[in-house]
Amino acid sequence: MMTVKEVAHAPLKKNEEKASYNIILLGPPGAGKGTQGQAISLKYGIPKISTGDILREAVVHKTPLGVQAKSFMDQGKLVSDEIVNGLVRERLSQPDCLKGFILDGFPRTVQQADTLRKMLEDFGLKIDAVISFDIGEQELISRLSGRRSCPKCKAVFHISFQPPKKSGICDGCGGALIQRDDDKEETIKHRLREYQEKTKPLLNYYEKSGLFHSLPGDGSIESVNKTVERILSKQKME
Ligand SMILES: [Zn+2]
Repeated sequence: MMTVKEVAHAPLKKNEEKASYNIILLGPPGAGKGTQGQAISLKYGIPKISTGDILREAVVHKTPLGVQAKSFMDQGKLVSDEIVNGLVRERLSQPDCLKGFILDGFPRTVQQADTLRKMLEDFGLKIDAVISFDIGEQELISRLSGRRSCPKCKAVFHISFQPPKKSGICDGCGGALIQRDDDKEETIKHRLREYQEKTKPLLNYYEKSGLFHSLPGDGSIESVNKTVERILSKQKME
């Protein structure tokens, strides 16, 4: 399998030009977006773009948008839509997105979805599939508190469902795994409420687009992945 970098630098063949996978993953935190996104990313050699990750990277590298974002965060404020949109635009314009990309955690609102549509139009791109993961609240809570993340390479594991080979250590890069604050039980319910309020209208927005697929996210990683791949292979035929 080619690395993301190799894909970015490989010239596109004529018949590959149309086979893009521009994918949006929706669903409450913990519904399996991250894990499935990682699998799709590896299989198709396209980057998984999480707004959390690009935000953290921009802050670490002190890019102009990162510096602005940090001043919001230092004041305990939510980073503005303008900054998040700018970060997404910067990321999508990078060459490794030519064959496709997986958006995880963006858009969150109908307004952001509109911004994204216009942004992609500027690049001559469009969304090929929107996949929404449905899951019950109790299942979500038990899942989230078991999640462990690698701060170095962004891989995500789960102590029960997808344990790393060595406890506490990332399979990919050997980094020490952490439990992100987002995955701690006290923040979960708040995030769920926020998701319901803000993101549910997005489902309606994309349902009208004809690209929308909803699937139960409570199966095994393998079975959910099979469904995801079936959706994507159908999408490619069209
Ligand atoms: Zn790692």
